[in-house]
Amino acid sequence: MPMRSDAVVLFGVTGDLVSKKLFPALYELTRRGRLDVPVIGVARSPWDDQQLVSTARKSVSEANAEVDDEAFDALARNLSMISGDYADPFTYQRLAERLRDAERPIFYLAIPPAVFGAVVDGLAAAGLAERGRVIVEKPFGRDLTSSRELDRTLRAAFDPRRVFRIDHYLGKEAVEGLYAFRFANRLFEPLWNSEHIDNIQVTLAEGFGTQGRAGFYDRVGATRDVLQNHILQVVALIAMDAPAADDIDAFREAESAVLRQIEPLSPDSTVRGQYAGYRDEPGVAPDSNTETFVATRLTVNSPRWAGVPFYLRTGKSLPGTATEVVVEFKQPQRSLIPAENGAQAPANLLRFRLGRGDGITMSIQAKSPGAEVTSRPVDLSVDFGAAFGRRQEAYERLLDDAMDGQHLRFARAETIEQEWRIVGPILDLAAEVQSYDKGTWGPADADALAGGWHTPDLR
Ligand code: NAP
Repeated sequence: MPMRSDAVVLFGVTGDLVSKKLFPALYELTRRGRLDVPVIGVARSPWDDQQLVSTARKSVSEANAEVDDEAFDALARNLSMISGDYADPFTYQRLAERLRDAERPIFYLAIPPAVFGAVVDGLAAAGLAERGRVIVEKPFGRDLTSSRELDRTLRAAFDPRRVFRIDHYLGKEAVEGLYAFRFANRLFEPLWNSEHIDNIQVTLAEGFGTQGRAGFYDRVGATRDVLQNHILQVVALIAMDAPAADDIDAFREAESAVLRQIEPLSPDSTVRGQYAGYRDEPGVAPDSNTETFVATRLTVNSPRWAGVPFYLRTGKSLPGTATEVVVEFKQPQRSLIPAENGAQAPANLLRFRLGRGDGITMSIQAKSPGAEVTSRPVDLSVDFGAAFGRRQEAYERLLDDAMDGQHLRFARAETIEQEWRIVGPILDLAAEVQSYDKGTWGPADADALAGGWHTPDLR
C-alpha cells in the first residue's frame, strides 16, 4: 500500500475550483480525521495567510448549512499561502523550503492548462517532482495531439504511478453505482445487450448558462467541456463487459476495451446548438460558433451492442438540471396486453439519476384496475439520499484517494486518448451552430436525431 501524502499544495488557490470544491473537501477530510498535514496555497495574487483562511471559511460556510468550528480551525491551522509567479524559480524555492519536512507532497494543479507546463517544470527544477504526486484537472488538452503533449510534459517530471487525472464523474457515488448495479446484481446483466435493449440515452442538462465564465467557456464548448469526458465515462460504465478479475487493472482494461470499440462520432449524426443571447455575453466573440448544446448518436461496435444506438446530449440553459441515463428495453416478443387507450404499451425503462436526487427508477407495466386486461406504466423507484443519507462528495473522495496513491477513480492516459479519438470528428466544425431559445431542449433537429428523448427528472 503506497504511503499517504504528508502535504497538500494547491496551485491556483485563488480560483473558482478551489473555492467551490476543494476547500469544502479539505474541510470534510479534516472533520473526518483524514487530513492533518500542511495545506499550502500558491497563486500570483498577493494573498496572505489571513486572506486564505477567510476565503476558505467563506467557501466552507457556503457548502455547509452548519460548520463544525473545531474542524475548521484545525484546517485553518494547516493553511498557509505562497504568492508568486509560476515562471519564477524563487516561487518553487520558497515552496521547497516550506515542504522541507514533507516526504510525499501532493500537488493539485487547479490552474488553467496553459500554465501546467511552467508549474511542472518549476517543480522538477526545484527537486519537488521526484518525491511528489500530481493531480491534474480536465480538460486534458484540446484534442488528441495536445492531450498527448500534456501527458509527455507530466511524464517527463513525474512517474506515471504518481499522476492523478481527475474526471470528477468517476468520484461520484451514483456514477460508480452504475458499475455496482450491473455487476452486483444477477437481474439485468443477462438482458444487457442488443437482444433486449432498444436504445440508451444519456442526458447531462444544465438549467443555467455560463455563470459569468463565458470568456472561458467560449474557448471550450459543450463537446470538450462534458461530452468528451463525463458523458463518455458514463457510456463506458454502461457499455463495458465485466472485468476479467476483481482488481483495478482489470477494471480499467475492461473500460478501455469498450472505449476502443466506440466509433468516432460523425458530424452527420450530430446537432450543435447555441442558446439565443450567448453571443452578447462578456468575453464571447460576436460571431462565436461555440456550441452550448450538443446531441449526437454513438455506436459501440461490438456484438453486445450491435444495432443499439446510444443517444447523448448536453447543454446549457435547458429547462432544468439533471444527469440521467435511460435504458429503453424492447417490447415484449408478443404484445398481448394493450395500454389503457388501446395503443401499444410504452417500453420498460431503467432510469439512472446521477445528479442531484440520485437514484434509480424502473418503469414497468402493471395491470390497470378494472374489468379490462390492459396495462398502465408504474414506477419502482429508489432515492439514494433517502436510502443511504449523506454520501461523500466526489472531490472529497478523490482527494482522499489521491493522497493514498489509489488510482481506481482516476482516468488513465489511454482512456483520455480514446475519448479524444471518439469526439475528434465533431470538434471545431465549420457548420454554423443552430440557435435555440433558453429554457428549451435545444434545436429541433436534436429531437429528430433520437426520435424522441425521455424527459429527465429535473431538479
Ligand atoms: P480559474 O478560476 O480560471 O483559475 C484558477 C487560478 O489560476 C486563478 O485564480 C488565477 O490565480 C490563476 N490563473 C488564471 N489565469 C492564469 C494564467 N494565465 N497564468 C497563471 N495563473 C493563472 O480556474 P478554475 O475554474 O479554478 O479551474 C482550475 C482548473 O480546473 C482548470 O484547469 C479548469 O479547467 C479545471 N476545472 C475547473 C472546474 C470548475 O468548476 N471551476 C471544473 C472542472 C475542471 P492568480 O491570478 O491568483 O494566480
